[in-house]
Amino acid sequence: MTVRNAWLLSLLALASAASHAARAAWMERTEAIMGTRVYVQLWADDAVKGNDAIDAVLAEMHRIDALMSHYKPDSQLSQINAHANSEPVQVDKELFDLIKLSTHYSQITEGAFDITYASVGYLYDYRRHIHPTEEQIKKSLPAVNWRNMLLDEEHHTVRFEHPGMRIDLGGIGKGYAVDRGVGILKARGIQHAVVTAGGDSRIIGDHMGRPWLIAIRHPDDPKKVVTRIPLADTAMSTSGDYERYFDENGVRYHHIIDPRTGHSASKVRSATVLAPTATQTDGMSKTAFVLGPEKALEIINRMPEYDAVFVCPDGRVLYSNGLRPPTPRPSGAPSVAPTATSPRVPP
Ligand code: ADP
Ligand code: MG
Repeated sequence: MTVRNAWLLSLLALASAASHAARAAWMERTEAIMGTRVYVQLWADDAVKGNDAIDAVLAEMHRIDALMSHYKPDSQLSQINAHANSEPVQVDKELFDLIKLSTHYSQITEGAFDITYASVGYLYDYRRHIHPTEEQIKKSLPAVNWRNMLLDEEHHTVRFEHPGMRIDLGGIGKGYAVDRGVGILKARGIQHAVVTAGGDSRIIGDHMGRPWLIAIRHPDDPKKVVTRIPLADTAMSTSGDYERYFDENGVRYHHIIDPRTGHSASKVRSATVLAPTATQTDGMSKTAFVLGPEKALEIINRMPEYDAVFVCPDGRVLYSNGLRPPTPRPSGAPSVAPTATSPRVPP
């Protein structure tokens, strides 16, 4: 090879490296799916691959929504609600397994998490400011009990053993969808990303050498941040009384229901749970919200994989044992606020 050719070749190599570097970038997209805001941000070496990966995550979320939405009359979940009172309803193994997993959370939380909450929950309409009367709650409450769901492992069927039962996976489905999205990104070699659906987020890797900073918002002011938590390779879910709600005569009617009373839970303003997967954090954030800090911390401090942060009605912020009080934000560290508690869009 002549000196001139070698020089030309190295110029070409340099140009190719530069164009490759120019294509590596953070990419992000937001879409309304599952009645909420879905957000994907990732670091991609190649814009085409990055876009394809985001497409695949969003397509997966649409698929899960079609299977599990209680708003869609054709979904398998709606088929359960329509027929399981009179006969066993067969569903895909995937949906069956998530319903079964939800009973595991009911078990470890003494029923604070219970997808049959919907037997009363359907009587609330937050957009139209409708809530049930005490009489209606009294009548429907006996139908709230996960133990009255008969799950047949062999045939993947669900049968309700009490009249008037309904289920709703709104308290675990988004976390599950986030985990599926993260699985897709990891399989495609993505090493830095965040996937969020409503109050549920999961992070892959760090933010290029620094932690991601996830904000917990002030319950009464979406622009104010109560604390920021530096995170990498973790999931996080926040349940708050400011997401779907209306106020009437000094009472806040909101979407997290205490299965024991049929009323909106009121021990905290928000509960945030951290754990390795978003299915775990989603299930446990309702639990933490319903039980309140004292009882929830008893459970969470026993489970080494979990941590929690509570914003109390009097403004106090309480942390589980594994979390130190908030560290100041390192200068220049990126913030992904307010993805953890993002505004909703109509279903
Ligand atoms: P997001 O929908 O933003 O993820 P949450 O994780 O706080 O918010 O989930 C709230 C949803 O959980 C409610 O809209 C309802 O579908 C469901 N839910 C409410 N109370 C309970 C409960 N006690 N057990 C299980 N699911 C619940
Ligand atoms: Mg959630």
